[in-house]
Amino acid sequence: MQRQRFVIVGAGLAGGTAALTLRQEGFEGEVTLLGAESHPPYSRPPLSKGYMRGEERFEDQLVAAEEAYASQEIDLQRGARAVRIDTGGKLVELEGGERRPYDRLLVTPGGRNRRPAVQGIELEGVLQLRTVEEADRIRAAARPGRRAVVVGMGFIGSEVTASLRQLGVEVTAIDGNRAPLARVLGLEVGEVLAGVHRDHGVELLREDSVAAFEGSGRVERVRTAAGRVIDCHFVVVGVGIVPNVELLSAAGAAMENGVLVDEMCRTSLPGVYAAGDIANHWHPVFGRLRVEHWNNASNQGRSAALSMLEKGGPYDYVHSFWSDQYDQSLEYLGFAASWDRLVFRGSLESRRFLAFYLHENVLQAVFGLNRGGDPEDPEKDGELKACLPLIRDRIRLDPSLLADEDHDLSAFTVS
Ligand SMILES: Cc1cc2nc3c(=O)[nH]c(=O)nc-3n(C[C@H](O)[C@H](O)[C@H](O)COP(=O)(O)OP(=O)(O)OC[C@H]3O[C@@H](n4cnc5c(N)ncnc54)[C@H](O)[C@@H]3O)c2cc1C
Repeated sequence: MQRQRFVIVGAGLAGGTAALTLRQEGFEGEVTLLGAESHPPYSRPPLSKGYMRGEERFEDQLVAAEEAYASQEIDLQRGARAVRIDTGGKLVELEGGERRPYDRLLVTPGGRNRRPAVQGIELEGVLQLRTVEEADRIRAAARPGRRAVVVGMGFIGSEVTASLRQLGVEVTAIDGNRAPLARVLGLEVGEVLAGVHRDHGVELLREDSVAAFEGSGRVERVRTAAGRVIDCHFVVVGVGIVPNVELLSAAGAAMENGVLVDEMCRTSLPGVYAAGDIANHWHPVFGRLRVEHWNNASNQGRSAALSMLEKGGPYDYVHSFWSDQYDQSLEYLGFAASWDRLVFRGSLESRRFLAFYLHENVLQAVFGLNRGGDPEDPEKDGELKACLPLIRDRIRLDPSLLADEDHDLSAFTVS
């Protein structure tokens, strides 16, 4: 009997984790992992943090050592870009024409940086960040005393701003919102983070946007919509990603804000699964959502592999993520696209607090600034972890008790 052939398109965090999971679970068929990049799967979070600052090595960011793939008979193809999926013939076509047959296919191509259609975006020195090569380019430009403009104060922009300041670069940051990360965390928390950046010497231009990047060949200055002109040596643009859905969309998969998958990571195409940044998944607690965070790519990659093996249950991971900026630790558990009440435990001024995002007194998400512990860390019995059952079980809460330091968060759980 012919061995089953599982192919994975996208050798990033979700794809690499899925390939390794297939073997851990005893799958004995063929596993092919196709990756457009020239590296084995790696973690991107350090690219804007320790790796960018030269404190961490790239080798330590690999999902698994390169030899692990060969030793587990995972056919890792680097520099192999898939250009077409033929669902009728069950084939993946690569750039160059080679075709790979599959019995089951997992698609995990992540996203690419959004490139705003702004005059001068093509100038040398206008940089973006997704890959290790792009991190290297920013690092090379980031010499002490130089001036940079960061465009967009979401997670990538905020982290790059912090790292550049730590490297001694002068930073002006431009954001369309009233405060950094206000869209995700709310204005009150955004204002606290704005204060952190200000204390580190960042000039923050709020509710403004770039009208043009200017310079002859190389960027020399940025002109904003509000009329500011900022001289600079380089620019980092971090205004979000576009999920790489083209392969699946051309193959006819159902799309909506990414590729639609069910709670088993199945697309609408037979035998085709998706996970990671591209997957708009059905979640038993949160409903439909697409998540662009490390913990999701790792957990969903694993869950998709289990589904391919017809082993797993629904993907019901309660989402979480983190960010590090300067010496500030940000941790988030749950998912709140909107909320009707925001309750704090601890003071905003102390920069050590929990923020609870509620809808009709049901906790949607909790955010901890320098407080609450890592909800992923089993060693830490932190406050965020105590909130997990509250979010998962949709328990109606008394908000005043959430704010009350004397009320134990784990005492809310109903036995
Ligand atoms: C600088 C940076 C910092 C981050 N920091 C954090 C953080 O602090 N916390 C957090 O929770 N998250 C963070 N993230 C987000 C996190 O890294 C992503 O959510 C995660 O990488 C998504 O994994 P993925 O496998 O879906 O996609 P990716 O990691 O992007 O992997 C997809 C891979 O598929 C390849 N590919 C694309 N198209 C094809 C094709 N046609 N054929 C073959 N291969 C293809 C790509 O080249 C890529 O290698 C950060 C991201 C970046 C860029």
